[in-house]
Amino acid sequence: MKILVAVKRVVDYNVKIRINANGTDVATDGVKMGVNPFDENAIEAALQLKEQGKASEIIAVSLGSSANQDVLRHALAMGVDRALLLETNNKLQPLAVAKLLKAVITEEKPDLILLGKQAIDDDAGQAGQMLAALLNYPQATFASSLQLEDNQLQVTREVDGGTETLALSLPAVITADLRLNEPRFVKLPNLMMARKKHITIIPVADLAVDIEPRLTLLKVAEPAPRKPGIMVSSVDELLRKLLDNEGVTL
Ligand code: AMP
Repeated sequence: MKILVAVKRVVDYNVKIRINANGTDVATDGVKMGVNPFDENAIEAALQLKEQGKASEIIAVSLGSSANQDVLRHALAMGVDRALLLETNNKLQPLAVAKLLKAVITEEKPDLILLGKQAIDDDAGQAGQMLAALLNYPQATFASSLQLEDNQLQVTREVDGGTETLALSLPAVITADLRLNEPRFVKLPNLMMARKKHITIIPVADLAVDIEPRLTLLKVAEPAPRKPGIMVSSVDELLRKLLDNEGVTL
């Protein structure tokens, strides 16, 4: 069984997001970038299936500029077998991502496709769902547990007030939640070895896929700054302040 995992390069989750000078997007120049955290869970899930003897090959795919090679090297260091970069300097919206992944899937024919449940930069949470629809494959989103027996997947996902467990036939699209697993720590020697591994680069322009954006990003703004806190000397004072805030007097 072949597994394809989508790996997005995003601003590192420890970095405080800043907005660019003209307020049109998040600033990325000189900012530490890394693998989208949910995609690390997707890679880990694929590796665990391979370790259980249920998968034979894992392919990591990233879409973006040549800088995305770093996240693919991270995936190789974690243990994926092959890495593909669909190279473009254009900004890709989730629909374009889904169409490009579909083009790779048509070629590679994986049995299982794993993505993160959302990218932490655009917070769209759309690419997996759109991809499943384009492929007409079953999908289970926000997976918090995944079992594969006799070509049947069982996926547990969190829903309001509990969990639900779904059975899916392959090929299928799954999007990973953080609860799915704990991604393995990448050791330095593995990272060094991954630097020497081959990454297949396919120019997006060669794929005849319409990646035109359908949405225009008008403005990006920081959240309103929080008002500073104050110290009160007694519960009575606290109550008075709370009631004053509501416009009620004691
Ligand atoms: P989104 O719909 O943008 O929140 O992204 C959901 C998931 O789609 C991510 O967690 C990734 O697994 C995948 N994805 C989105 N954009 C890319 C990209 N440029 N390259 C590879 N995978 C991507």
